Amino acid sequence: MSTGATTALPDGLDVLLIDGDLAAASGGGTFETTNPATEEVLGAAADGTAADMDAAIGAARSAFDEGTWAADPVFRARCLRQLRDALQADGEAMRALTTAEVGAPTFLTSGPQFDIPVEDLGWYADLAESYDGWRTDLGEATPVGVRSQRWVLREPAGVVGAITPWNFPHQINFAKIGPALAAGCTVVLKPAPDTPWCASAIARVAAERTDLPPGVLNVVTSSDHTLGAQLAGDPRVDVVSFTGSTATGRAVMRTAAEHITKVFLELGGKSAFVMLDDADVAAAAGMAAFMAATHAGQGCAITTRLLVPASLHDEVVDAAAATMAGLAAGDPNEPGTICGPVISERQRARIESYLQLARDEGATFAAGGGRSERFERGWFIDPTLVVGLDNSSRVAREEIFGPVLTVISHTGDDDAVRIANDSPYGLSGAVFSADEERALAVAGRIRTGTIGVNGGVWYSADVPFGGYKQSGIGREMGVAGFEEYLETKSIAIAR
Ligand code: NAD
Repeated sequence: MSTGATTALPDGLDVLLIDGDLAAASGGGTFETTNPATEEVLGAAADGTAADMDAAIGAARSAFDEGTWAADPVFRARCLRQLRDALQADGEAMRALTTAEVGAPTFLTSGPQFDIPVEDLGWYADLAESYDGWRTDLGEATPVGVRSQRWVLREPAGVVGAITPWNFPHQINFAKIGPALAAGCTVVLKPAPDTPWCASAIARVAAERTDLPPGVLNVVTSSDHTLGAQLAGDPRVDVVSFTGSTATGRAVMRTAAEHITKVFLELGGKSAFVMLDDADVAAAAGMAAFMAATHAGQGCAITTRLLVPASLHDEVVDAAAATMAGLAAGDPNEPGTICGPVISERQRARIESYLQLARDEGATFAAGGGRSERFERGWFIDPTLVVGLDNSSRVAREEIFGPVLTVISHTGDDDAVRIANDSPYGLSGAVFSADEERALAVAGRIRTGTIGVNGGVWYSADVPFGGYKQSGIGREMGVAGFEEYLETKSIAIAR
């Protein structure tokens, strides 16, 4: 089966962006980036070094401290729109790159894997110009006997160290670059080693086709994870904006603690899809199966626990299994594919170890259960429906990051809420019921940062996204996401 793209990919992606210059890594090192659907090497990425990271942080610091970037929101908005327009002009090649490097099905590259986050750069540009919180007049007061006029100012926080994962690279890179630049910060982006080209393509467009001043946006690709730790631990960085696993987030927080650097963390999830006993079984089960299969389950906000009324358990399993059987892993270049490959051999082995664990814990698979037999090459796992476990099993508690949905019975609304909340995570979720009020009441009791009711979609530039509990600290997107990149200064003058 062919998994080759026909569109030409962007050229010249073996470069870093430091202080306005596109250049090879110091020492000239490169590493391979690979197509997960074919296992073919796409080409070489620049293997940035500690010296490169040091230079990038220095450039971002100088651009913030010495340039006019932080003081000119109209210019910032113009640069963000230039970046958006140039990336949109390259849309065909960028979408092809995203499918080739990330394994993202094409239906996602015309949505959250490319088109939507690029369009959203315009939303951040608008916000840079329209934000009305830069200066708040609190009026006069006489605290401790001194008549004083008070203002609260919001100011750009400074240098942002952005550390990102591979699963939705454009969505996550732009959800950091967009608001950070709009707010007046400068940025050093350290993308995941699995998807370096998605980031270097942004670097090339930013350097060649926008007026972004040198040092405002720096991109350092590397095969070396320790460059992330270097960025998180450098005292010249004011905000560490991290998306990735909870384990790495914990390490980032520890590293940043050395200099009390502000951290913003978007971490893992194990979100619940809650069906109430009056829900349309076919619609809810179908949607739960579809969500778990999408992009081979490689989304932090995907619902991976399906909580079903015990009385409807078998009916739901049959319906979800039937949907999953129709969503078998496929070539991400085919328009009908929902579940493409997983990112790497290592990630496939990790998912397979969880499937073995499920067997060891006594589960059966109502659909899928392992590697796709349709492909001789590529890292494909078929969407899998795990049955027979309860919420205490490791498969129900730990993030698998593959197309694996675990069905768990509940005995009613209170029990469903209890199980949904019985998780170290709190990132997202869903509730399905014929009764809107009842569904909203259940949604309100689940401790999670985002939740969709009866198929409602919260994903949008103006909607804050983030986690409760071990799913993170802070919010990305929306005005709240922009304000993560601002400091607050209170000023009083005696009258
Ligand atoms: P990861 O945690 O392994 O790596 C993320 C990034 O951190 C990479 O760029 C990596 O090089 C860097 N890194 C690794 N060690 C580091 C260290 N000690 N200090 C600083 N940086 C370090 O995550 P991943 O495997 O790339 O992505 C998958 C994970 O990301 C999943 O757990 C998923 O849930 C999570 N994720 C969360 C969100 C969200 O918004 N909550 C979104 C997407 C992915």
